[in-house]
Amino acid sequence: MRIVPDVRAGFHISIAQGLSTVPELARQRGCTTIQIFSRPPRNWRLNGLVDDEVQAFRRRIAASGIAPVCIHTQYLLNLASPDRTLRRRSVRSLALEMERACILGAQYVITHLGSAKGRRRTAARQRVVRSIVEALADAASGPMLLLENSAGAGDFIGGDFAEIGGIVRPCGEAGVEVGMCLDVAHAFAAGYDLTTHEGLGDSLAQLDAEIGIHRLRVIHFNDSRTPLGSRVDRHWHIGKGEMGREGLARIANHPKLFELPFIMETPEMDLKHDRMNMGAFKRLRSRGLR
Ligand SMILES: [Zn+2]
Ligand SMILES: [Zn+2]
Repeated sequence: MRIVPDVRAGFHISIAQGLSTVPELARQRGCTTIQIFSRPPRNWRLNGLVDDEVQAFRRRIAASGIAPVCIHTQYLLNLASPDRTLRRRSVRSLALEMERACILGAQYVITHLGSAKGRRRTAARQRVVRSIVEALADAASGPMLLLENSAGAGDFIGGDFAEIGGIVRPCGEAGVEVGMCLDVAHAFAAGYDLTTHEGLGDSLAQLDAEIGIHRLRVIHFNDSRTPLGSRVDRHWHIGKGEMGREGLARIANHPKLFELPFIMETPEMDLKHDRMNMGAFKRLRSRGLR
């Protein structure tokens, strides 16, 4: 008989009221895993971590059994930027997120790859590799960096699994091992139909061939407001978007994904909507493996 592990599911939790309040917000939502920002996502200004807050956060997370804790990097980061100043800033910011992950006891740092900003994609991809290697050169061992796939809009890097593979491999050759976070709404918008039996199987086979499925550590579990291949990134409530209940149930119960942490970044982020989405997730799970 298959031993079914504890469900690892949770939300992106706001740090607006302070880090020490995060574990209680997570508890109210029934989270067994969480994602946070370690700093405001749209502001370069750095607020220092306050020691009391950090200690309270770590103590309460440990008591709650919540794991893993993931940190999402700032939206301002552009690891692919052709602008030297912005790229340097992004490298420094990423290095700092790795350091903060250590301090906060987070297992993963999740980042977007950035935009080529009108330049050649191959050169942009090389800049991403350079940025990651520079940022992680002096990183303490512990937290792992996960690259998140994009919806593939315009110049954004990482809509294609092959493109992510083309970053993961040279990083490895430079001695930096990175993993992957699969945002299912982004993949769907980028044209991977994860909602059908065949489409899901094919997409995971491609991910395995290009990146290696062993690198996949976290699922961003969101429905998509926009249709397959739209290349528009609009998260939506679980089961109420274009991916739908059937499609999302197939993903949530797939044997290759089942044991991974599922983190929802659904709209609103208030208690009422988060509870509704957690309920929807649990109902999808109760359909079981198929
Ligand atoms: Zn993201
Ligand atoms: Zn998104």
